[in-house]
Order: sequence, then C-alpha cells, then structure tokens
Amino acid sequence: MSKIYNLGIIGYGGMAGNHRRQLEQQNVRVKLKGVFDIDESRLEAAKEQGYIAYSSKEELLNDKEIDIVLVATTNETHRDLAIEALRAGKHVICEKPVTMTSAELEDIIAVSKECGKIFTIDQNRRYNRDFINVWRTIDSGVIGKPYIIESRVEGSRGMPAGWRTNKAQGGGMMFDWGVHLIDQIMYMNKTKVTSVYCKMYSINYAEVDDNFRLVMTFEDGLTSQIEISTNNFITHPRFYVLGTEGTMVVTDWDGTGKVVKKLCDDEGWGTEIKKVKAGPTKTMAPRDPSTVKEIILTEPKDVTDNLDPVYEQLVNAIEGSPLVITAQQALRVVRVMEAAFLSSEKNEVIKTDI
Ligand code: NAD
Repeated sequence: MSKIYNLGIIGYGGMAGNHRRQLEQQNVRVKLKGVFDIDESRLEAAKEQGYIAYSSKEELLNDKEIDIVLVATTNETHRDLAIEALRAGKHVICEKPVTMTSAELEDIIAVSKECGKIFTIDQNRRYNRDFINVWRTIDSGVIGKPYIIESRVEGSRGMPAGWRTNKAQGGGMMFDWGVHLIDQIMYMNKTKVTSVYCKMYSINYAEVDDNFRLVMTFEDGLTSQIEISTNNFITHPRFYVLGTEGTMVVTDWDGTGKVVKKLCDDEGWGTEIKKVKAGPTKTMAPRDPSTVKEIILTEPKDVTDNLDPVYEQLVNAIEGSPLVITAQQALRVVRVMEAAFLSSEKNEVIKTDI
C-alpha cells in the first residue's frame, strides 16, 4: 500500500485552516496530524477539530511520525522555522512570500541541500482559472506574440488589521499579492527579467504599501505591468493582454473574458480625414468589423475552484519526481520584489539580470 505522509502545521491561523479544508477534501496521501501555534486559542481550535495540539514547536518537530511541516506563520518567521524543520528531518512546504529577502531564502536552500529534504512553496495561484485561461490562450497562438501583459488585483476594503499592516512582519501588498502575480508571469515567461520599475503607495497604512504599480521588462521583449490596490472603487479587468495578432481580456476570477483576433489589416484610410466620435482622425477611427473575429473565453471546465496541487507535487517529489514549485523559482521572484522596493525608494528604473 502507498505510504501516507503525516503533516504538522506551524502557525494555525487563517491560511492553515484553508490547507486543512483542502486536505480534508482532496484525495491526497497527506494527513494532518497536529499543529503548533503561539496563540493558545488556535491550539484549542485544533483540539476541537480532532488534531493534536503540540505544546511547543520542538514537540511537533520531534514527533518521528511527522514527515512534512507546513510553515504558515507570519512572513518574518518563515526562514527560521523552515530551517528548523528541515534540520529536524522534515520536508517543508512554506507559505508565500517564502521569505522577505533573497539572503533568507538562500539560507533555506543551503540547509535543504545539506539535509537532503524537499522544500517547496505554496504558490497556489499558479492554478487559478483566470491565470490558466490567460496562459492557455497565449499558448494557443491566437493573439500572436504577447508583448504587454497587464495583471491587476483591486479591492476597496483596505487591508485586514494586524500583521498585514506591519512592516517588520512582512506586511503590505507586494508581499501579500505581488508575490503571486509576479510568480504567475515568471512561471509563464521563463526569460530573464531585465528591468524593474515600481511605485509604491501608502494611502491608508503608514508603514506598508497598500497600492503599487510595477513594470517588469523581459529579455524576450515582453513587458508586464502588475498593479495591486486596496482602495480602488472602480476596477480594471483582471488581465489585459496585447499580442501581435490580437487582444485578450480576462474580466473575472473564473477565467471568463474574450479575445479579439485580427483577421486582416483594415486599410480603408481614404484621402480625407474622417470625422468620428474621437474627432478628426484616421488612426483612431473605428475598424471595419469584418477584419476581426471575437472569441468568447469561458471558464476552464477541467480546473476546479481553488485547486492547489502543492501536496500532491510534494509527495511526488519525495518519491523521486521533479519538484514543480522550486526554491530557485521563488528566489527569482524574491529578487524582483527586492528590486521593486529599491526602485520605489529611489524612484528609478532598476536594471536587473534575474
Ligand atoms: P494569520 O495571522 O491568520 O495566521 C498566522 C498564525 O501564525 C497565527 O495564528 C499566529 O499566532 C501564528 N504564529 C505567528 N508566529 C508564530 C510562531 N513563531 N510559531 C507558531 N505560530 C506562530 O495569517 P494568515 O493569513 O494565515 O497568513 C499566514 C501565512 O500564510 C502568511 O505567510 C501569508 O502570506 C500566507 N497566506 C497565503 C495565502 C495563499 O493564498 N497562499 C493566503 C493567505 C495567507
């Protein structure tokens, strides 16, 4: 019979609850055994749910039956906890952002190599329907070569109180959401990031960015514009992509949207400058509709809501398959975030080789 792997969670807060629910629903060979949290009320919650509440992280790490540790604490603690778990002989899944600096992640990578244990990161938004539809549509070639990808997540309710508004604990939108959107683009386009420009805003929270605009350029000519805001009352589409042969918009989280594909050039310029809604202009006059084709994007039916295969991927990696979400990929994302913070501080474009 195939081995079942026991999971211990350090940091049993909001996101850990999501992992618990997913494990209960997924048919995966990982079983939650117990948790440790510095907050007594979270230990009580775990006990009520039928899991072991360890009295210390050492007790959890010394439990020989625990094979995998999920680190789901606040961001400033990820490095030390991941290293302790690896040294205790556990495989580790760490929540995003994996660390706040590349130096911290390099420390983890060194220990994971030294201990021969697998280290992965819960970059669960690689498996969201909106992103999957964008990737598949680009991959199909229907819009030609993409040269601009705009990716936005916009809310109007501010940020939850607590550590997310605290700089020392890794609060702010770059670490919270930026990490996901940067990871998505870098997962899809594996060429080097050659420059980063970022402008961060602290509109309602003095210590951290609650809104940012980031522009990354890639070696293959792609530009990606990523924007997150928490005080935005009118939203843009989730994704807007310009390709050499067409334009794509994904309006919603379920992946719905459309493509407008060029069928042929519209060269009906004429000699006279036309008077159109935009005023006297040839360039911006509406196109002849017969020169384009509209394709409706629907929800990808094979992708379930909130799919997160990180445990399945980890089990496969423990049993010898290549790991899908690697620390080296995460290291590139952390380096882009470091460049973004520097760019915003100096108000200049940072040349990169990431
Ligand atoms: P949270 O505040 O709800 O939970 C964090 C928990 O960690 C708390 O219960 C706290 O008491 C505990 N904790 C803090 N320091 C600890 C320590 N040293 N030892 C043991 N327990 C400790 O926060 P959250 O929203 O669950 O976020 C936790 C992590 O998950 C963050 O890194 C966050 O970025 C990430 N997250 C990821 C996603 C995703 O989609 N992948 C979504 C939300 C949060």
